[in-house]
Amino acid sequence: MNESAKRARDIITGYSGRPLRIMEVCGTHTHEIFRLGLRKLLPPQINLISGPGCPVCVTAVGFIDEAIWLALEKGCIICTFGDLIRVPGTEMSLAGARAKGAEIRPVYSPLDAVALAKEHPEKQVVFLAVGFETTTPSACLAAKQAKDAGLANFSLLTANKTMPNAYQALVGSADAFLYPGHVNAITGNATCIRLCEEQGVSGVVAGFTASELLTALAVTIRLLEEGKPFFRNCYPRVVRDEGNPAALRMMEEVMEACDSEWRGLGMIPGSGMKLRAEYADFDARIKFDMPVITGKPNPACRCGDVLQGKIRPCDCKVFGKGCTPLHPVGACMVSDEGACAAYYQYS
Ligand code: SF4
Repeated sequence: MNESAKRARDIITGYSGRPLRIMEVCGTHTHEIFRLGLRKLLPPQINLISGPGCPVCVTAVGFIDEAIWLALEKGCIICTFGDLIRVPGTEMSLAGARAKGAEIRPVYSPLDAVALAKEHPEKQVVFLAVGFETTTPSACLAAKQAKDAGLANFSLLTANKTMPNAYQALVGSADAFLYPGHVNAITGNATCIRLCEEQGVSGVVAGFTASELLTALAVTIRLLEEGKPFFRNCYPRVVRDEGNPAALRMMEEVMEACDSEWRGLGMIPGSGMKLRAEYADFDARIKFDMPVITGKPNPACRCGDVLQGKIRPCDCKVFGKGCTPLHPVGACMVSDEGACAAYYQYS
């Protein structure tokens, strides 16, 4: 551990002030803080709470049902990041649909799905586009490549989300946010600065190594003690105020803002991204004339409360009993970034 990390650790372990609630917005932060054993350093007055920054966790039940409809009713090949396959829909997961004959392919990139569509012109290929500003540019690039290539058998089912309006929905739920470094690397810091200046929302952009996380936590604690709203970028080696202009341009060209349903948070106006009208041929809902499909979450699952920091995963009655990583009841127990999975694995 270097000297600055040791100083940060001493600030954290020596804290003896009022109780603090700090929200790790990002699921990767939740996992890294557990994995690195940093929670054990925290005095009891510092309460780290999980937020909605896991893209799989916030994807609505109805989206899984839509993907299953495309697979089973329309015979599409569904390409998706692996985590999503085991997320429960209303009646089954995509894994369950696969057992009924649906073709579900895990991919590492939306461009893999474009390549698959080129290899199989006789099949319709749909990529499940979920995620935040970090992954949306690659989905946009896939749509652009498919359009440029004149592919008639590729489309996206979109549930892309953006963080600014989610922060707005979470105002008041914590004393400070640990902002997700990889999202801010794309978006820049303008939203966080505005939240601080206009609404007094405090937060710190954090990186992902032990040293970066210790520093971000120590800075947060010190500035909360001072009592004034603050914003600090503690991940300057990656995050610039202006973000990533090329990625922002790509999103602007291909997608536009829309209302979006978040698991647990409900419909948040302007918090989603959908394909622009010029890309309608690549929008699976339009292409397949999809009916309105509304999912029904399992009433036993409290992912919504977990994602808003209202309860800890272990406060859910089925945590570790009816709900485990092998038999997940909710998305937060499935995803590598899910808070319930992190608590199950490490606590
Ligand atoms: S433990 Fe399982 S059922 Fe409970 S909130 Fe987490 S994912 Fe949902």
